[in-house]
Amino acid sequence: MSVSHLDASRPYWNMEVEPFLDSPQMRELQLYRLRRHLALLYEGAPFWRRRMERYGAQPSDIRRLEDLAKVLPPCRKQDLREDAEKYGTVESMYQMVAAPLDQLRLLAATSGTTGEPTPYPFTPAGMEINNETFARIFWRAGIRPGDRILHGFGLSMFVGGVPLVMAASAMGACPIPVGAEAGAQRLLKIALTFEPRVLFCTPSYAEHLIEAAPKLIGKSVASLGIRIIVAGGEPGAGLPEVRRKIESAYGARLFDIGGAGGGSCDWHEYQGMHNVRVDGSIIELVDPGTDELIPLEDGARGEACVSTIIGDGSMGGIRNSLGDIMEVTLSPCPCGRSGFRYRIVGRTDDMLKVKGTIVYPGALDNVIAAFYPRVTGEFRIVLDEPHRG
Ligand SMILES: [Zn+2]
Repeated sequence: MSVSHLDASRPYWNMEVEPFLDSPQMRELQLYRLRRHLALLYEGAPFWRRRMERYGAQPSDIRRLEDLAKVLPPCRKQDLREDAEKYGTVESMYQMVAAPLDQLRLLAATSGTTGEPTPYPFTPAGMEINNETFARIFWRAGIRPGDRILHGFGLSMFVGGVPLVMAASAMGACPIPVGAEAGAQRLLKIALTFEPRVLFCTPSYAEHLIEAAPKLIGKSVASLGIRIIVAGGEPGAGLPEVRRKIESAYGARLFDIGGAGGGSCDWHEYQGMHNVRVDGSIIELVDPGTDELIPLEDGARGEACVSTIIGDGSMGGIRNSLGDIMEVTLSPCPCGRSGFRYRIVGRTDDMLKVKGTIVYPGALDNVIAAFYPRVTGEFRIVLDEPHRG
């Protein structure tokens, strides 16, 4: 899409698609694209063909969207890891994409803190999806062509690194790729020099800069002129006390972005992240214990499985679990913007049971942040007996 002649006051980046994300026709489009995409992966991506054959699934089995859960189980990190061990990480990565080997243009990966990093290869088709998704999210956060964006997420292979820089540039904004690795001093000095209007970083880094700025540059973060903060990677914007602390310290609005094509809106009370890619992906909720499908309705919670139904498989496959526990809201948002909303309420691997009640560490974060500035907000959870799950 051309970025020239854009009306800066229009509500959406993509006026042809975004106004209709909640329409019944969108489900028809999803079904059409899902069937087409499964056929493409079956023909061209050996990993997905093997998976479909293993479970006796054929692309033609899908007659309604609900059929997907009947023919294929969620694809979890463990499934990817097993395949990577069998074929090697590089070969297994190529086998997930229905594109020739020379089509890879960029490689990102998870941090791999709990084992081998999971690769995220980008083909031209994948980059197009990445750029379009983030253009929609950035536009809704108020970012416009020409805005200087100080990039403070990690740049070292992270999906929130170079892919985000490219997306911001593609929509016409001007990213300044400093990266978290450069350290707070360099980031703050560059902020003073180049006067960005937007900051990208994790919420905890934004909090850290509040404390660090007076010591490192002799000024408060409020003096930097940052008006929009786009955070992600961990809860932050969704935690009222954390959001209040960051927004008041910077004099900026805080938004968060999520891995499944979500971005929060500017409603004064956090409403979750709008799914801006309803036309390009299907989100399902399942019970993490039984894999049973949980119907999408207001307040429904479950492990999120995302099927990307456009592109060539490089932006994610079918029923991929990101390990997130999501809560969805389908009723319209008071902000008036389209795309059903979701919040990440925890991770399948850090879910704790305390006296039979499910507790997510993120919920504790908000309680502790309410005592700021009497506490720093940092905390550690100590289990006094082995966790039984
Ligand atoms: Zn909203």
